[in-house]
Amino acid sequence: MRGILIVVLAAVLLGAGAFGFYRCEGSPPSVETPTSLAVGREPKTASLVVSDEGSGLRDIVVSLQTPAGEKPLAARELPGGWLGGSGVARETIDVPLDAKAIGLADGQVTLRVVARDWSWRTLTGGGRTVVETPVTIDTKPPRVSVENTQTYLQRGGSGLAVYRVSDDSTRDGVMVGDLYFRGHPFPGEADGRRLAFFAIPQDAPADPAIRVVAEDAAGNRAQVGWATHFKERRFPDVKLDLGPQFLENKVTELASARGIDATDRVAAFQRINSAGRAEDEKKIRELTSKSAEEKLWNGAFEQLRNSKVTSQFAEKRSYFVEGQQVSQATHYGFDLATTLTSPVTASNAGRVVFADDLGIYGGCVIVDHGYDLFTLYGHLSRIDVKAGDAVSKGQPIGLSGATGLAGGDHLHFATLLDGVYVDPVEWWDPKWIREKVDALLVTAPASPAVAAEPGGPAAVSAPAPARTR
Ligand SMILES: [Zn+2]
Repeated sequence: MRGILIVVLAAVLLGAGAFGFYRCEGSPPSVETPTSLAVGREPKTASLVVSDEGSGLRDIVVSLQTPAGEKPLAARELPGGWLGGSGVARETIDVPLDAKAIGLADGQVTLRVVARDWSWRTLTGGGRTVVETPVTIDTKPPRVSVENTQTYLQRGGSGLAVYRVSDDSTRDGVMVGDLYFRGHPFPGEADGRRLAFFAIPQDAPADPAIRVVAEDAAGNRAQVGWATHFKERRFPDVKLDLGPQFLENKVTELASARGIDATDRVAAFQRINSAGRAEDEKKIRELTSKSAEEKLWNGAFEQLRNSKVTSQFAEKRSYFVEGQQVSQATHYGFDLATTLTSPVTASNAGRVVFADDLGIYGGCVIVDHGYDLFTLYGHLSRIDVKAGDAVSKGQPIGLSGATGLAGGDHLHFATLLDGVYVDPVEWWDPKWIREKVDALLVTAPASPAVAAEPGGPAAVSAPAPARTR
């Protein structure tokens, strides 16, 4: 009898001991926070993930340690008990960080997260984790001043802005409506002078807002406009008849290359000209998303020698089969015809970023000229360069042809800025290059025409903000 009692007692003690050991689990909660945070003028939310694999989370307290004392930000208590824990292994807390509402001055503060679990490890407090994250409070946007005076722009055209930003700027450039064109350091100067080429897309809204923007690490944004003059333009409407031979030969060839069923030639053409074209344009945007941070070109770009223009920039094309309209598209380049399989030359110096087949553009070469400016050569029957090659102005890069979506032998020539097609006519014009580009790229700093106080509207008489580094 006594023996049985001892065995039972031993079993109970052993069980309690095992349970106690289990409930004294040794891993306190873990807290995931960014390594550092920056809070600007606009309120933001920091998402913190707190987890505990053992007994579960008990409570979480988030506060800011500031020179003026501790400011509570968020607190959460999770239901549970010392015997069963809480069963909550993971909790996300969105902590509002609003410098103005909290009453924080610019400077450094510390975000502190204290999380506890239901472990018996420390009988008074449970497993406890404290994580501190440095937070920079910065409500002042970068300073921006624009050096351009009058800038004349047209729909489908290009522009160049020269400006200065203070050192705290982490991202700056030109906004045209909602489109962002990145800025680059001004050549030979390291004092905050920057430049950005930008495009007025052929389908931009009427007289789009154009301004230089600068953002800092805390997300504060300054923007400054200047005197721009916008010229409206209309692009031609062109009707194209697709003959039986084109449908038979070209559409069959292009459909098989894309794995499209070509039983219905017209339906296959529609797919190539819409979804296929969109895929090709996406690839071109990717290929032109990185550019040399220097001007590789020199002087005006060259139109292919002895070529005849057969189609212009931003033509609105309607495609017809037997009198019925079947598709439409915008033509983003110039079609230049010479003789069959004639040499195609680089229109200016640069570096080849692509030299291969590219869907509707057939045999295609894309050249980076630096500062986000690219030229594209399509429908080539032969390619004589490869990606990575440096090319000089006038250097042969291949032979013209009718590969891709082309009805006959010609060169499709296009110009892009930061992935947006622009009219090559300006880039072919020595006077435009001289007056609109080279005149702004002189190294002697000009006095700013417009300057702005942080975040405020453009102020004409404000002094140029100095950049010290
Ligand atoms: Zn074309």
